[in-house]
Amino acid sequence: MAEDRIARLRAALAERGLDGLVVVKPENRAYLSGFTGSAGVLLITPERAVLITDFRYTEQAAAQAPAFQVMKPESTDEALIARLVDEFGLKRIGYEGDHLTVDQFQTYRQAVSGCEWVSVTGLVETLRMVKDQTEIARMRRAAEIADEAFAQILPLVKPGAVERDLAAELEYRMKKLGAEGVAFETIVVSGVRSSLPHGRPSDKAIAAGDLVTFDFGALYEGYCSDMTRTVVVGEPTDKQREIYSIVLEAQKRGVAACRPGITGKELDDVCRSYIKERGYGEYFGHGTGHGVGRFIHEGPRVSQRGGDVVLQPGMVVTIEPGIYLPGWGGVRIEDMLLVTESGAEVLTRTPKELLIL
Ligand code: ZN
Ligand code: ZN
Repeated sequence: MAEDRIARLRAALAERGLDGLVVVKPENRAYLSGFTGSAGVLLITPERAVLITDFRYTEQAAAQAPAFQVMKPESTDEALIARLVDEFGLKRIGYEGDHLTVDQFQTYRQAVSGCEWVSVTGLVETLRMVKDQTEIARMRRAAEIADEAFAQILPLVKPGAVERDLAAELEYRMKKLGAEGVAFETIVVSGVRSSLPHGRPSDKAIAAGDLVTFDFGALYEGYCSDMTRTVVVGEPTDKQREIYSIVLEAQKRGVAACRPGITGKELDDVCRSYIKERGYGEYFGHGTGHGVGRFIHEGPRVSQRGGDVVLQPGMVVTIEPGIYLPGWGGVRIEDMLLVTESGAEVLTRTPKELLIL
């Protein structure tokens, strides 16, 4: 797998006229090499792939990154890079301008003289947007773990249950089911607090009649899942039913429209125009979705801003419209989808019809 990723990277370097790339961002390093240690630098050229890491990690690196030549610096990483750049005769080298600090960059530039440094912000991230089979399998599992954990905690969601306890329980169950951690801080908000799209779980106890929104995901072998469900505790009011059915319909339209060839912005339009049509446009204040992978938020965006990437098979995105009425509450429904050749496969399987607990 690493070989395929390196081949795609080399094609991207050739397109930009670069004869080397220095990779320091941990997610990009792990993506390209397979190495998951906390320290290391990659130098990738058309012919060579070198992983520089210190003595704590050389054994792990050799095992996890067989496509790379593992090297240990005698002094600093920068000094070794400088020697290799000279040895390989590199002239134009890319670096991650959105990640290196100014100090780090100056250190590289001073150590490596006689070559041009070019910022390639987003280059590896662009490759990462299209997932391969290994990544898809991990994300599928991450989604399954979240589905299963949610099913396990539903019996606990009743009047008197505290938001913070439910969040902790959900995270505990995900870990018991094999997650190495959570994809992001679990959101559990109830009653009027459910109008906070990214509210943190509080000490509030759930009351009869509350809407409760859960937004959570598992981290499995380095990959995230992301799902939101809103349930109601006790018999819903007409208003709760109305808002829920609008969000659900918008979400289903988004899922149905998700396919190769559509842009993130167009997909956002699908959900947004329906909510607008039903009179709640101003209460849907965030983008429809985002890409997911090693990060919970990565490309492509599914929103008006920056949503110009055309979806391709292998991309994984969320569709998560919501309506939030201040002082009343909110509803959000979110699935994570894999774009396929003909449409999209929903990876998060928890049912979406209004669940009355
Ligand atoms: Zn989410
Ligand atoms: Zn999301």
